[in-house]
Amino acid sequence: MDISLLEEVLANKPGYRMKQAKKAVFSDLVESWQEVTVLPAELRNELEEKCPIRINGETVVSKDGNTVKALIFLEDGSRVESVLMRHKDGRNTVCVSCQIGCPLGCLFCATGKMGFKRNLKAGEIISQVLFFARLLKKSGDKVSNVVFMGMGEPFLNYPAVLEAIRIIKDKEGFNIGSRKISVSTVGIPEGIAKLAEDEPQVNLAVSLHAPNDELRIKLMPAGKQYTIEKVLTAVDDYIKKTNRRVMFEYLMIDGLNDSDAQAVELAGIIKKPLYLVNLISYNPVENLKPSSSVRMNKFKDILEKKGVAVTIRHRFGREVKGACGQLAGK
Ligand code: SF4
Repeated sequence: MDISLLEEVLANKPGYRMKQAKKAVFSDLVESWQEVTVLPAELRNELEEKCPIRINGETVVSKDGNTVKALIFLEDGSRVESVLMRHKDGRNTVCVSCQIGCPLGCLFCATGKMGFKRNLKAGEIISQVLFFARLLKKSGDKVSNVVFMGMGEPFLNYPAVLEAIRIIKDKEGFNIGSRKISVSTVGIPEGIAKLAEDEPQVNLAVSLHAPNDELRIKLMPAGKQYTIEKVLTAVDDYIKKTNRRVMFEYLMIDGLNDSDAQAVELAGIIKKPLYLVNLISYNPVENLKPSSSVRMNKFKDILEKKGVAVTIRHRFGREVKGACGQLAGK
């Protein structure tokens, strides 16, 4: 779904045609222009040819039905994956990818092992949301939240990510509020600053995963360039500007970053107002294992006793290969 192609086709048409087309795509969630009978047949044919809205994809559903993983086939033959998480409280969160593969090569990540292929266009990011919006329509549900936590680093494809955010927010687009959109980064300071400037109401999540640079660099090679000190300085500037809470993601990996001593060390750097640590149960990739729930709870207790705001997220979709890159990489 490429909005710029839509704009090209409708450039010389009356303004209301764009409104009709957007309503059909984002609100009525049509899968073919031929369904949009308010448009003249000739225009429907032209749109079908120049601005296709068909999305080809395959899905895998978890046993409990709460996680749906999609593998979407793009025009150039590339494959991109996204995940729908259906929460008990009624939220339907779509986790989108913004790159095919990723150049950052984190040790724990299936996408990182694929290497980097290319950036996605805004339309290709939007298509992932659209794919699930159409799926949910069948049960009378809607996408309520979008998180940029799939394949790729959002701040390495910032223009497309920003354009996609704006379509997701747009009243004539998906009409999803900024506070229901989250961007997750390894902590690229320039990107954090730009987001604070351009979309201060969008949620920011930062992947920390270690309490010190030495371990963090082992887990995330990008940590060499974006040291914890640089990342936290960027986050503090972000908070000064936006007064928004920032989530620090911490994957719990057995025997690597989950000891009592590491919890104490983490508390030493992360206890600040508006900082929130999110401990995430790890989806195993190759020989790394997730921490046990007992260990996760102990780690959480230590952080809490030291005054750190902390939550635990038990990860969705283990049996549908719910970690980023685990499906497309196959
Ligand atoms: S965790 Fe994110 S930044 Fe790291 S390799 Fe995977 S996709 Fe890239």
